[in-house]
Amino acid sequence: MDYVNSLLDLIGNTPLLALSRSLDRPEDAAEGPLVLAKVEYLNPGGSVKDRIATRMIEAAEASGELQPGGTIVEPTSGNTGVGLAMVAQAKGYKCIFVCPDKVSEDKRNVLKAYGAEVVVCPTAVAPEHPDSYYNVSDRLASQPGAWKPDQYSNPHNPRSHYETTGPEIWRQTEGRITHFVAGVGTGGTISGIGRYLKEQNPNVQVIGADPAGSVYSGGSGRPYLVEGVGEDFWPDTYDRGIADRIIEVSDADSFAFTRRLAREEALLVGGSSGMAAFAAKQLAAELAGTPEGKDAVIVVLLPDSGRGYLTKVFNDDWLATYGFPTGSESEEGRTVGE
Ligand code: PMP
Repeated sequence: MDYVNSLLDLIGNTPLLALSRSLDRPEDAAEGPLVLAKVEYLNPGGSVKDRIATRMIEAAEASGELQPGGTIVEPTSGNTGVGLAMVAQAKGYKCIFVCPDKVSEDKRNVLKAYGAEVVVCPTAVAPEHPDSYYNVSDRLASQPGAWKPDQYSNPHNPRSHYETTGPEIWRQTEGRITHFVAGVGTGGTISGIGRYLKEQNPNVQVIGADPAGSVYSGGSGRPYLVEGVGEDFWPDTYDRGIADRIIEVSDADSFAFTRRLAREEALLVGGSSGMAAFAAKQLAAELAGTPEGKDAVIVVLLPDSGRGYLTKVFNDDWLATYGFPTGSESEEGRTVGE
């Protein structure tokens, strides 16, 4: 019989899928770069963050920071929360997540469904107020038995990618990968995978995709709407020497391409996936027709599913509120099929 005893054994070993229609390659195009998407929503918790959750928890168990019956406290409402809640449940830990009141009820309910406790803090108070998001999470994390993973400074975040995602990509491409593209949030994904790939072959190009306005592409943290990527500070988990290049992508391009991936590749993914894939497509277009492009193999990591964004990226009214194109326009404003 073919089965596993723990859900945790289902984390990782996600497939690579070749992108096709969404690349807009002319039918008669000569061989061009192969663009392969690493589909991370197929992890059991629905995102790439399952990988870091397992590794951070296992390392804290080994170091004694997390003891049997302990409580995991993290200020997060997103994918890292789901990963931590799932791993915590499988291993018998309590989980408390602290999130600001602007976080949607749906997101909070996902965490609660896994058995986690969610503490909601008012957004409308100053950071020094005792009820602020920062103070509440610090207070909870200082309780006996509590442990805070802190994905922005925990070295096991990039390490999980160095140990799992990087080797998977190298093996799956039989060492033929030439370019790796990923969005940058904590920087764990790009730093861990980038380091592993460059150790195997120093010629592999590592490309970060970043929302226009974020620090990684030279901005000051100006607001952008794509979630999970871009920062207004430099996290410890980001290796500032790893990226050979950063491609800046606007919200409009990220969202339009996210929708194209669903319609043209049947890949229902989140906005940060659309952003990274848009950057990969731009890179493929630059390489097409060049001697280097013929054998280029571009791998782009797609972090999560589009299910969590049905009321945003996939909702015409929401897009229209921000003045983004809806319908079936492509990123250049063309209508597909014209
Ligand atoms: N996309 C989404 C949806 C995310 O939640 C994250 C993590 N913040 C990322 C991309 C970026 O990954 P990393 O933190 O490893 O840079």
